[in-house]
Amino acid sequence: MRLDKLLANMGYGSRKEVKGLLKTGAIKVNGKVVKDAKLHVNPETDEVSVHGEIIEYKEFIYLMMNKPQGVISATEDHQHETVVDLLEIDDAIYNPFPVGRLDKDTEGLLLLTNDGQLAHQLLSPKKHVPKTYFATINMKVTEEDVEAFRKGVTLDDGYVTKPAELTILKSGESSEIELTIVEGKFHQVKRMFESRGKKVTYLKRISMGALPLDEELELGEYRELTEEELSALK
Ligand code: URA
Repeated sequence: MRLDKLLANMGYGSRKEVKGLLKTGAIKVNGKVVKDAKLHVNPETDEVSVHGEIIEYKEFIYLMMNKPQGVISATEDHQHETVVDLLEIDDAIYNPFPVGRLDKDTEGLLLLTNDGQLAHQLLSPKKHVPKTYFATINMKVTEEDVEAFRKGVTLDDGYVTKPAELTILKSGESSEIELTIVEGKFHQVKRMFESRGKKVTYLKRISMGALPLDEELELGEYRELTEEELSALK
């Protein structure tokens, strides 16, 4: 890979800005000052440093976030804070984007990556990647609801949902449930309950494919996926 491309990918500015940086003599490759932007380097084996600090190159970043309420699942928004705004600068230089969307008032597991291929795989309707949510509902949830979700319910736009697994954790004036769906229509969980005349009052995603939310993560916190978690997702 060209040295200027590597530096630009690592967030040291545009290719033009990187050229300026090279001119100042701030960049060393294997201990020697390099000013040639076109120099080919192997990010795996060559040691590149900027102002004496060795840079650790990786092409992709995979983050698991416990999304809090009140932030938007987007890379930028003119009015509201986004999940990308919650990242440290060092992580943000990889330009990760959220894999799919959680509503502004939904909490829980959100993946962020710059690996478009993995994101596509996880979001592809053909792959039916299961997503499990914990929710509280404003009234009694019954076995009829379980059966209706198993068969598929008709949403307000006429769409009939694929079979979904509803588990009642607590049924009463305010109920607690877990729901696993294999698709990701807009506001799907909320609209599925609306089709039964019920309202979701709290929603949290607790797993996606083979990946459960790490409950150690406080709201707004995130961490990189481990190798095992990543291979289980792929
Ligand atoms: N279903 C919803 O209604 N909202 C979400 O954020 C995710 C799934």
